[in-house]
Amino acid sequence: MIIQETEAKSILRKKKKIDSWFISHYSMNLYRGCSFNCTYCDGRNEKYFVQGEFDKNIIVKKNAIDILRKELTPSKRKYPLKRSYIMPCGGVGDSYEPIEKKYQLTRKTLELLYEFNFPVHILTKSVLVKRDVDILQKINRQSRAIISFSFSTVDDNISKIFEPNAPLPSERLETISFFKERGFSCGIFLMPVIPFITDTPQMMDETISKAKEAGAEFVIFGGMTLKEGRQKEHFLNVLEKKFPHLMLEYENIYKDDNWGNATKEYYNTINFTFDLVAKKYKIPKRIPPYLYNTVLNENDLVIVILEHIDYLLKLKNYKSNFGYAAYKISQLNTSVSAIRTELKRINGIGETIKKIILEIIDTGTSKYYEKLLIG
Ligand code: SF4
Repeated sequence: MIIQETEAKSILRKKKKIDSWFISHYSMNLYRGCSFNCTYCDGRNEKYFVQGEFDKNIIVKKNAIDILRKELTPSKRKYPLKRSYIMPCGGVGDSYEPIEKKYQLTRKTLELLYEFNFPVHILTKSVLVKRDVDILQKINRQSRAIISFSFSTVDDNISKIFEPNAPLPSERLETISFFKERGFSCGIFLMPVIPFITDTPQMMDETISKAKEAGAEFVIFGGMTLKEGRQKEHFLNVLEKKFPHLMLEYENIYKDDNWGNATKEYYNTINFTFDLVAKKYKIPKRIPPYLYNTVLNENDLVIVILEHIDYLLKLKNYKSNFGYAAYKISQLNTSVSAIRTELKRINGIGETIKKIILEIIDTGTSKYYEKLLIG
């Protein structure tokens, strides 16, 4: 492994609006490049400008903690930070990849987030997160911490092929139980399922049942993208060696999409399977409201729930205006309560959505939404 230390100019990455997948406005990449070397990793794509070999050249933002302290200090900010979970991770590395043992940037970040009283959402594949259980417990007691793990399968043998240097899924499941026993909320990101290998009904059933057994309180699902360039080439090389009979199947579903998406028909099929399996185990398909409705401000709460409803309806192949309504709320510069009698003047908000918004304002959730989450 070649380590390169750099000086970063900024650390917190702010999203344009709250990200309803993670319940977060802010994420960060403390490292760039990842020695876990997942075959499908999107971070390998050229658009993220990670130089060198993705799994061997690891960039460390050595001054990250000094910069982050400034970014978190209210008196040094032009605008206050928005209240939501902060994710000490991003898309081009794992916050608990092996280099963290030496530099401890994630641990120091958690200490800062505790000092500034922010809730934390961790997403990792690494069991090294156990090392930080002490500081995470303090955060969880003070403002809440969610510990999520990503999986493409719970099959250790398949993982050894596609996630060659990451801790085994069985170890990740054991780590979920470890955190659950200590009072944390945990979930899994079943992302990405690997086409024709880990996306079958049997595989998804096994993954979701084991995750639930270990204590996961939600499963967030997603299919695989393969962007042209380094990511696709690397993945297909491995596929050709291990599953040569699937090369043609991949050609059929990954066809010249700028974002590396597979065909709509393929995604519809796996979404249908996921929906059925999640329903069987009555496990929420989005982070459930009890984990965020006391954390977010009112507008963000409404946006997240409307976006979740939009996703849940589309998962069932229904049409939905909820996403558009969420977008319109995100453009407001007043609180939703202040205009509760005029909500229908907003484009995209009809009688049904208005009623749901008012219910969210008054109760922090929506009965319709909660039914969809596990239904
Ligand atoms: S752990 Fe995450 S960042 Fe690291 S290689 Fe795997 S998918 Fe990429």
